[in-house]
Amino acid sequence: MARATFRAKLFLAALATAALALVVASALFAGLMRARTNARIESTLVAEAHLAVELVKAAPAAARWQDEAVRVGTAVGARVTLVAPDGHVVADSAETPEAVATMENHGTRPEIVEARESGFGAARRPSDTLRVDMLYVAVPASRPDVAIVRLALPLTSVEQQIRDVLRVTALALVVALAGAALIAWALSGRIGARVRAIAAAARRYQAGDFSAPRADFGDDELGTVATALDGSVHELGRRLTEIARDRARMTAMLGSMTEGVVVVDTAGELQVANDAARRMLDLDEAAIGRHYLEATRHPAIRELLSEAVDGRVPASRELAPPRHPDRTLVAYAAPVAAGRPLGAVLVLHDVTETKRIDRMRRDFVANVSHELRTPLTAIRGYVEALSADDGLPEERQRFLEIIARNATRMERLVSDLLRLARLDAGQETLAITRVDVAALAGTVVADLSPVLDDRDQHVTIDVAPEAAVVEADESKLRDVVRNLVANASTYAPEGTTVRIAARREDGCVSIVVSDEGPGIPEGDLTRIFERFYRVDKSRARDPGGTGLGLAIVKHLVELHGGTIRAENIPTGGARFTVSLRNADGGQVRG
Ligand code: ADP
Repeated sequence: MARATFRAKLFLAALATAALALVVASALFAGLMRARTNARIESTLVAEAHLAVELVKAAPAAARWQDEAVRVGTAVGARVTLVAPDGHVVADSAETPEAVATMENHGTRPEIVEARESGFGAARRPSDTLRVDMLYVAVPASRPDVAIVRLALPLTSVEQQIRDVLRVTALALVVALAGAALIAWALSGRIGARVRAIAAAARRYQAGDFSAPRADFGDDELGTVATALDGSVHELGRRLTEIARDRARMTAMLGSMTEGVVVVDTAGELQVANDAARRMLDLDEAAIGRHYLEATRHPAIRELLSEAVDGRVPASRELAPPRHPDRTLVAYAAPVAAGRPLGAVLVLHDVTETKRIDRMRRDFVANVSHELRTPLTAIRGYVEALSADDGLPEERQRFLEIIARNATRMERLVSDLLRLARLDAGQETLAITRVDVAALAGTVVADLSPVLDDRDQHVTIDVAPEAAVVEADESKLRDVVRNLVANASTYAPEGTTVRIAARREDGCVSIVVSDEGPGIPEGDLTRIFERFYRVDKSRARDPGGTGLGLAIVKHLVELHGGTIRAENIPTGGARFTVSLRNADGGQVRG
């Protein structure tokens, strides 16, 4: 695991450094101690030699030298050898008198030669007698019988002292190493914990979590680096959040647009295509990231995008989207650049509805002009004929009637147009009251009775009790029913019956007007509600209508929040059903 490794590495590094320092220091110390101990032992031996010399000098002339040697040897704690001026051994504290007598001449021993020459001699070598390494120190005694006093110390005791020193040093080294290990462990633990905290923060950031508040990483170098990185990451996180918010806002904006928007990069790959663009160009989810030549086969779109990607601003084009040849799109393309080229954007505008409304308006104006010109031409013609003033009185009377009829027709046309204009402008408001349906139908029949009687037509009124009352604007509802009954009377033959019925179904009150006429061709059933739409376009048999009646009826019904539909009765005749939503269809009150 990374953190364990880090702590272990740190610990081992600290421990190794401490161990190396301690071992080197211990080695230096041991060396120094060894040298010092050696020097101290030697100087002690020298001092003891001088003391021994003093003791020997102070001995009486007839001293028993062997006893003296043993006494002095015991006093100084070393082997004492007394040598006569000629070099033969007088006494030796480590030997018996018999052995002393057999000892060889010491006059040539290096320490003795040196002492004779310079007043002091020292040497290290194995002892001939004792067969161990010895340290010898010789000082002249200047007596006739004893010329040199020599002290000898076995080097084994020197080594023993040095070993003692080394043992203590080694022990100190072990204790110091243990202490160093403890300190290194504690230190590496603290640093390890801080590194772990930094690593944990880094992992959180890597997972995209910037929620945690900024931690205190300390103020040393590690803390400074961590704080700086932490600050950068927080700043980055803040910018990422901002970018994500911008992107979400942009996606929401693009998603709610009715215009299609497509963005391609410099390589021509699709970066963005909003829902509207996908619908219009029939692009699927996988189109994003693909080249536009691959994503769309539409030649005009390809040309526009290729020009825009090349940095030009092509003129807008009108085109039909794939699979919807009846619709019209206007496409604009432009290069996108921010210091350097970034690609191109394509905007698609569906103008089908605008075009349809435009066409309708043109048709409407043409229709109005046409409808007005016919009676005007008639009026002008008959006025001219009258001005000639050469006709018979009966003929003049007929001309005047034609003029009057056409003038009335024009008046009706203009008043219908004005009403439609008011309805379009929303200037007609509803005055809702509880309307008695049967009474309303009765008024309509009474209003139209001259026409109905004239055509020998009969009207039946059949209102179900639960549809007796409807909440509506009475005068407007009367206009609706009057129009439908008038049409029934106009288009059905003489002597037929027109039926007005009211029913309640699914919470709606339906007012149905049916006749026994020729009905309406199936293809025209929905179109008869359009302005100026007539089934019989020749106007050869002009029943005097304006072609606007049903358009006004539909408008009035929709103003009430209701619907109107036309259908043919299988047994013959047309049926118009007006459905009005109504909370209360109860009996008439009062
Ligand atoms: P108009 O003023 O010509 O009657 P409308 O808008 O009232 O205009 O009607 C549009 C057309 O619908 C009429 O020209 C007629 O062809 C047809 N129409 C309306 N009512 C009936 C009906 N009851 N029977 C047959 N055709 C009808």
